[in-house]
Amino acid sequence: MKAAVLLDAHSMTIEDVPVPVPEKGEVLLKVHSCGICGTDMEFFENGTYNPPTILGHECSGTIEKLGPGVKGLKPGDRVVVNDLFSCGACDFCRRGLENLCSQAANLGIHWPGAFAEYTKAPARSLFRLPESISMHDGALIPTLAVGHHASRRAPLSPDVKTLIIGAGPIGLSILVALKMAGVRNVVVSDINERSRTIAKKVGASAVVDPSTEDLPERLESLLGSQPRLVFEAVGKPGTILEAMEVVERGGTVVVVGNCFEEIVVNPITWILKEINIHASQATSSEDLATAIGWMAAGKIDPASFITRTISLDELPGVMRGLTAAKSDIKIIVNI
Ligand SMILES: [Zn+2]
Ligand SMILES: [Zn+2]
Repeated sequence: MKAAVLLDAHSMTIEDVPVPVPEKGEVLLKVHSCGICGTDMEFFENGTYNPPTILGHECSGTIEKLGPGVKGLKPGDRVVVNDLFSCGACDFCRRGLENLCSQAANLGIHWPGAFAEYTKAPARSLFRLPESISMHDGALIPTLAVGHHASRRAPLSPDVKTLIIGAGPIGLSILVALKMAGVRNVVVSDINERSRTIAKKVGASAVVDPSTEDLPERLESLLGSQPRLVFEAVGKPGTILEAMEVVERGGTVVVVGNCFEEIVVNPITWILKEINIHASQATSSEDLATAIGWMAAGKIDPASFITRTISLDELPGVMRGLTAAKSDIKIIVNI
């Protein structure tokens, strides 16, 4: 089968590789569409620890073949994948915290990913895609689910004054989740003009450009106070510290953006403000199911997120270009 293989940092080629064989409890999928995620870009930029790797984890497809012991699914079923594979049996899974599973493994990191004609996944990680959702749009479901999960990490109410830092796919997904939950006042901050425009379209009550405007000052004039709830969806030390700085005393900061860098901080500033700091990790079944429900009910316009659709052959070239210019929100690869 054809697959985009990452050999090393900045080195991705289209190769012919063997089709995966579904083992007990697993399913072979014919991949239809797969979104490019920030994680894929991170690996493309810095390489992975287990090369060669097939990246890609935000995928939709049809079931090609069932491994031994799989029940309730059949070839031809249209599905979307929860890319964080959980065991379903550990203490965390039993408590509904599949995203914290002690046996967790990721599609496109630990398992060969979906930038390929076929991929395989545990049957328990698949969700049926209703006919009303196209396979192409279905590849956006995992991203929306991340936003839903982050929103569940915060105390929400219709009148909680909220700031989202970063309007990439994750920040916008959080915005969607907050609008669905009826949160009225959500300000979005991003240095990218295209992202701010899309945030307005998706339902932000106001947008701020922190590169030209004073964020705390703008928040004061927009909200009448500092926000009681802040989502950090960039994953950089500077924006995490900014979130802690602008949140109101007694407020909550949800850290969603994956940050791999160390932060130097004097905790007394957080203690004096008694900030609640929550982290948000990936998604659970509940988040995928909710995101599918939103899209099936026509409550989301996938076109506002998906800024480009490309072919698998185009992927290596597009990945090389992406690291330079970040003007896209979500790119979908049609296999
Ligand atoms: Zn992802
Ligand atoms: Zn588990």
